[in-house]
Amino acid sequence: MKKYIMALDQGTTSSRCIIFDKEGNVKSMVQREFPQIFPREGWVEHDPMTIWSTQISVATEALLKIGGEWSEVYGIGITNQRETTIIWDKNTGRPIYNAIVWQCRRTADFCGELAKLGYGRIIKEKTGLLPDPYFSASKIKWILDSVDGAREKAKAGELCFGTVDSWLIWNLTGGKVHATDYSNASRTMLYNINTLSWDEELLELFNIPRSMLPEVMPSSHVYGYTDAGVLGAAIPIGGVAGDQQAALFGQCCFERGDMKNTYGTGAFLLMNTGKVPYFTDDGMITTIAWGLGDEVYYAAEGSVFSCGAAIQWLRDGLGIIKSAKESEELARAVQDSGGVYVVPAFQGLGAPWWDPYARGMIIGITRATTREHIVRATIESIGYQTQDVIDMMHASTSIKVEALKVDGGASANELLLQFQADILGLPIERPSCIETTALGAAYLCGLALGVYKSVDEIKKNRQIDKVFTPGGSEKWRAERIKEWKRAVARSLGWKEA
Ligand code: ADP
Repeated sequence: MKKYIMALDQGTTSSRCIIFDKEGNVKSMVQREFPQIFPREGWVEHDPMTIWSTQISVATEALLKIGGEWSEVYGIGITNQRETTIIWDKNTGRPIYNAIVWQCRRTADFCGELAKLGYGRIIKEKTGLLPDPYFSASKIKWILDSVDGAREKAKAGELCFGTVDSWLIWNLTGGKVHATDYSNASRTMLYNINTLSWDEELLELFNIPRSMLPEVMPSSHVYGYTDAGVLGAAIPIGGVAGDQQAALFGQCCFERGDMKNTYGTGAFLLMNTGKVPYFTDDGMITTIAWGLGDEVYYAAEGSVFSCGAAIQWLRDGLGIIKSAKESEELARAVQDSGGVYVVPAFQGLGAPWWDPYARGMIIGITRATTREHIVRATIESIGYQTQDVIDMMHASTSIKVEALKVDGGASANELLLQFQADILGLPIERPSCIETTALGAAYLCGLALGVYKSVDEIKKNRQIDKVFTPGGSEKWRAERIKEWKRAVARSLGWKEA
């Protein structure tokens, strides 16, 4: 009898498999890290065969761990590190180059040129994105330009491009299916999110043959079946979404205005904007949240570069805490930050400031300042940066947000979440299952296979661990935000170009 949904969560540093039951409980989890390849400064690659081998081994082990059978698995949902680019040979199935990871900056000059030439506007209007090396298009172009014979092969229709989801689908189906979902397609910078098609003008701009591209399908859909030679059984692949979008789905952000923040190394905020894409000039990214049946839902996305990274810096850089967890205990030892502000602009600042020349800063120090104040101010900086992004989204969409749903490693910090509620003036909801990325992939799969009849049925699974209710007056909020902005203003443009 079927009782499990398997989620493959292919991340930047590890491949994970989580097996859920129908109620969304974690039944088994196996994770394997794999090497990061840094051929030069600013370049980041993965070995696609290692991505595949680690992913398939954790899937098998996760099932073995609970003594499960493939016949008990309804299907597989896939979620993945986004934008990372793989090109492989259609005939041999072998990659022609390493995967170029989303973090890789090798195409920064080319993207800078595009921006200078004024392509930013059409890229934004068509794809919702910015001309940045982060997205797949310039990475594909780089491989075609740099690998011997690649362009000729591409023209002859012998190569396939895929983000990591496509690569896994291809391998799981024994090379039968070359596909991706709307959410992943929307991160390539080649997909027109208005017309829902690969964009001829952009393909020409990046000199990429149409024949290399995967077919784009709804996020909840039967993509195909695993090849019996691969897993020993034909299991349907029923759900596919990029990691942040999968987390939005796993948090049950199904309605317009529903929003989640993932507090990891960086923070990723996504807001469901319903069936309407909002295009703005303020650095907010417009993306496809998911496709369900004939309908496509959009999301506004903003990111904070240094979130948990700032806590890591307290531990590894300053050495004033022993563990991330200790940050909360120390911060609780003081009433407030004692007028101290930390701006963790280690790599410049993202939305809404967009200043690559900003640098980190601690300001407001007096003789009364202790390490507890600095730790507390660092935790608060995560809350302020999140508030800045939400404020920007609100200004650009006018969509009213009722609550913020949270997940990610740093959402374990309750002082952070209470401060976040206070400074936003919004309730914060932390779910019982914080494996929201994998859960989202499992839900998308379950929906396609009829395990769930509707998103309303999925919503019934949602259990909340804790709600943080906002305290503090409007006046307090306004004053704190004003001071934070004064601090940020002093950090901008510090490093000279
Ligand atoms: P990622 O997926 O980006 O690796 P995770 O979601 O695993 O991130 O979260 C890890 C991050 O969360 C680390 O940067 C760590 O410093 C931070 N973190 C973990 N626990 C806490 C805590 N109790 N308080 C503050 N930050 C924390």
